[in-house]
Amino acid sequence: MKLNNALIYDGSGSLPYRASIETTGSVISRIQSQGFDDGLDLNGLVVCPGFMDMHAHSEALSLRDPGMSIRAVQGITFDLSGNCGAGLWPRRPGQQRYEDILGPSQGDWKDFASYASQSKASINQAFLQAHGPLRLFCLENNPNREATEAEIRSMAEILETSMDDGCLGLSTGLYYAPCLFASRDEMLALLRTVAHKGGIFSVHHRCEGSSILQSLDEILSIAREAECRTEVSHLKVIGLRNQGLVEKVLEKIESYGATFDQYTYDFGSTSLESLLPPFLLGLPKAQRMEALQDPQVRNKARLQMLHPEGWDSLVDLCSWQNIRILQLPTFAELESMSLAEVAEKLSKDPFDCLFDILSKEKGASLMTDTTQTDESLRTIMRHPLGVWGTDALYTAGPMHPRSSQATFHLFRSFYLDKPAMSLEALIHRMTAKTAQRLGIRDRGLVKEGFKADLCVLDLYHMDEEKREGIPLVLVNGRPIVSRFSSVIEEKAFFPPVLNA
Ligand SMILES: [Zn+2]
Repeated sequence: MKLNNALIYDGSGSLPYRASIETTGSVISRIQSQGFDDGLDLNGLVVCPGFMDMHAHSEALSLRDPGMSIRAVQGITFDLSGNCGAGLWPRRPGQQRYEDILGPSQGDWKDFASYASQSKASINQAFLQAHGPLRLFCLENNPNREATEAEIRSMAEILETSMDDGCLGLSTGLYYAPCLFASRDEMLALLRTVAHKGGIFSVHHRCEGSSILQSLDEILSIAREAECRTEVSHLKVIGLRNQGLVEKVLEKIESYGATFDQYTYDFGSTSLESLLPPFLLGLPKAQRMEALQDPQVRNKARLQMLHPEGWDSLVDLCSWQNIRILQLPTFAELESMSLAEVAEKLSKDPFDCLFDILSKEKGASLMTDTTQTDESLRTIMRHPLGVWGTDALYTAGPMHPRSSQATFHLFRSFYLDKPAMSLEALIHRMTAKTAQRLGIRDRGLVKEGFKADLCVLDLYHMDEEKREGIPLVLVNGRPIVSRFSSVIEEKAFFPPVLNA
């Protein structure tokens, strides 16, 4: 493919230049100042490397929808999935876990190698071994407890095999069961394995609210002892009253030599159950639903949610009006209402509303929570240790906009409307910087010999609602999105997803 008259932001963070690009097979074969015969005239549109998502959860999506058009139209050409301790392997036959946040998955696999052999995504994928399924597999009778030495050894062995088969490292979610029950010894053993294999460890750490500094110390001190490269996932400080901690958090990460990724919204999304205290999250779902009907349990939960110790109570940090129901199959009429609005509608105490809902909802319930200010988000974004991620979840129902329009939102809000940094710096932290961090040597730059993962940006038509402004996306030289008629005819590899 030949692209003439492009304004190239090459991903390195350097100023742009005008040139034409030729791709041959899967690579960028030539970049030259004059145009190519029969080249597609881009009329000065921006060409940059395809976006590399450091924080994805696409492992079930890519099995259900290998075209991955919801990702491709955003210019995302690379995903690192398996984050936050949530993942699909290892697993026993028929076992379905993490469906509530990763969405339904189809296929038959037992370990990473057999999973990977089934995934035929149209974009590049890389994976972390998630800690959650390791615990579910190795602590079979009850994963919500400390592991024995033998169980720790078997988790480390599986982790090692997954990394031998191509996983880039390990992720955990110390905020979620069953990972929150891991001991220091368990984390140390697993991180030593990752370090030994030269991998990376990504952590959704225990507390992102009032105790964030202690929480970072907890895990980063273990990582330092294990000499393991560590990425703090979706860095933010939760709770308006905690926004003053942002600078200290950044200093803390620097002091440990760790790095971080960030999604660029001031609201997050997770399961509605995550509002509950750990003593309830440790119960299997059916038991938890039953317990929530008991007035004594409700009282205990209410007290802990108002006065949390050693965990983040999002109700306390964000307040009822900032927690909004996103997906609630049994009570669909409540979707998109805040919990404060639900309480008013039902003329009930918000705690009782929440407990009533969670004691009856058998399906997957999701919420969004306003966690931080725009100012803090921008401060974190400008820090040199950060790269971009989406934290996009692909469940069966309504989704946070980070899943479907993250890059449009990013360019609209942080470059066009109210710039947070230069375009070359913004693109750098979505491309070459991520590739460097992951040790990927042939992606992330518009450079001769590099893989032809490319995006064309039409910045002045960037529209987040309509998902417009990225008219052409190439993955390994193949056009997977095209709004140019001459390219649409090039159906040699993949049908363009424009009309999907
Ligand atoms: Zn997470």
